Amino acid sequence: MLRIPVTPFEGWELPPEPGELRLIPIGGLGEFGMNALVVHFGEELWLVDCGQLFPSEDQPGIDRIVPDFAYLEVFREQVRGVLLTHGHEDHIGALPHFLRQWDVPVYGSRFTMGLLEGKLREDKLWKGSRMHVVADFQRKELGPGFAAEWIPVTHSIPDACSIALHTPVGTVIHTGDFKLDPTPVDGRLTGLARLAALGEAGVRVLLSDSTNILAPGPTPSEAACVDGLSDAFDLTKGTLFVATFSSNIHRIQTLVDMAYAKGRQVVLLGRSLERNVTLARELGVFKLPDDILLKPADSSQYKPKELLVLCTGSQGEEQSGLARVLKGEVKGLKMKPGDRLLLSSRAIPGNEVSISRILDAAARLGAETTLEGIRTVHVTGHAHREDLATMMKTVKPAHMVPVHGTYRNLREHGKLAGTLGWPSERISLLDGGQCLRVFRDGRVALAGAVPVGKCYVDEGVEHMVDARIIQDRLILQEDGVIFATVLVDPETLDLSGEPSILSRGFVMLSDDEAYGELLRGVARQTWQEAPFAIRKDRDAMRELLRQALRRIIRKTTQTRPLVVPVILDAAGDASGDMPGS
Ligand SMILES: [Zn+2]
Ligand SMILES: [Zn+2]
Repeated sequence: MLRIPVTPFEGWELPPEPGELRLIPIGGLGEFGMNALVVHFGEELWLVDCGQLFPSEDQPGIDRIVPDFAYLEVFREQVRGVLLTHGHEDHIGALPHFLRQWDVPVYGSRFTMGLLEGKLREDKLWKGSRMHVVADFQRKELGPGFAAEWIPVTHSIPDACSIALHTPVGTVIHTGDFKLDPTPVDGRLTGLARLAALGEAGVRVLLSDSTNILAPGPTPSEAACVDGLSDAFDLTKGTLFVATFSSNIHRIQTLVDMAYAKGRQVVLLGRSLERNVTLARELGVFKLPDDILLKPADSSQYKPKELLVLCTGSQGEEQSGLARVLKGEVKGLKMKPGDRLLLSSRAIPGNEVSISRILDAAARLGAETTLEGIRTVHVTGHAHREDLATMMKTVKPAHMVPVHGTYRNLREHGKLAGTLGWPSERISLLDGGQCLRVFRDGRVALAGAVPVGKCYVDEGVEHMVDARIIQDRLILQEDGVIFATVLVDPETLDLSGEPSILSRGFVMLSDDEAYGELLRGVARQTWQEAPFAIRKDRDAMRELLRQALRRIIRKTTQTRPLVVPVILDAAGDASGDMPGS
């Protein structure tokens, strides 16, 4: 893991000065995911979003990564609540973890809070009285001299918002994830007029989405994929399977409307898809003719060309609706020659291999998987360069802070601000944990970083998983493990038998027996040569044994398995305890 040292913010544990507002991204900068922004002034500490990061393949067994709340722990009593921009996992996914520690109110739009409710109910953390649904353009007074206002924006999920924070040092606008779609599926437009009015009145800081800064021109409208999806319907003789993100209700609406118009019944496959569609229907953000939905088992009563199957699994997930069809696990529904599998989504970086595997599996069943003759079937939910410029020119902030993206994205976004006339001292490129101090007298200062980091969640394990454990899992996966057990007389501290060597996942040299003897010999010799004082210290002895065994293994096999020395008392009492690795 490449780590660039950051300058610490000396004195970060002291509360903000009078007339100071601190903005600290504790996640989401220099990476995609785990978005969370600390807003701290007086004795008030608020979070804007509280997202998770999905683990990558080099984090085996980890289900979720959440921000380290070290900064909040110091100001524990001042944590007042969470303000949400929208319901994507990278913005709400860490809330169950957060709310276990801070039982504070959460504010967000209808669909956002609906998604959150499902999530919290699952974790038995739902508490209706703490959850507040806000309407578009609503302003909430939240504390002394502090209010928040939710301004609608277009994005790839219903009810996404920018948040204007009216603070004692002035107005701060966080765009959330957005694009400027002039023709959104639900007709809910970005509140540009309100943003412009705020800009006229004066905005101190704009924090703006940088995801698509590298994409030129204006962002295509969601309507731009209608033709491509229509092509897919028309070119498919059998059943059309479409996998898409389950929270992209507008895409799902377009597909269902098209199915209706083209005479296909709709099957929904995948838990999150069913749940989100039900929620969106209840909230009135999704319209569905009653007779169009089919249970998978009833689909056999229709001809293949009379079916559209919407499913989860566009990223190649193993537990998705799509994966279950491919494995033949869905009763009454099979993928066959003449059918088509269409992924109406983008590949999240890192998922390319699993996606390719899924497409291959569909091809094996005879389904069409190419995009020949089909126009665009996916458009992004994040603003391209031109929309980002429009946002800056509309809000006209005194200070510009790019957020939501890799460091390169943030830098490009900063450059764009430069070309639009913002001098460099009015643009701040923050990295994770870096604190922007905004003062009432007009000053803005970039302090160093407060402690931040990642916490690894392995579902089913009560506490957080330490980064060292992930390191161990990687070693196990690569080179296996070797247990070296020595039996010791507790009085004399001499060996009271032959050391034993046990391995799993480790490839011994051609002659197992001889290699085992070599390792036993090294363990024996290491013990015997250690001074009595060291032998008394079990931790020191284990370290000595580990190093000696590692050295010989590396020399003879060029591998680095996990080496676990175990020291047992010959009396039979295993005071040798299981060591850490
Ligand atoms: Zn996001
Ligand atoms: Zn989003």
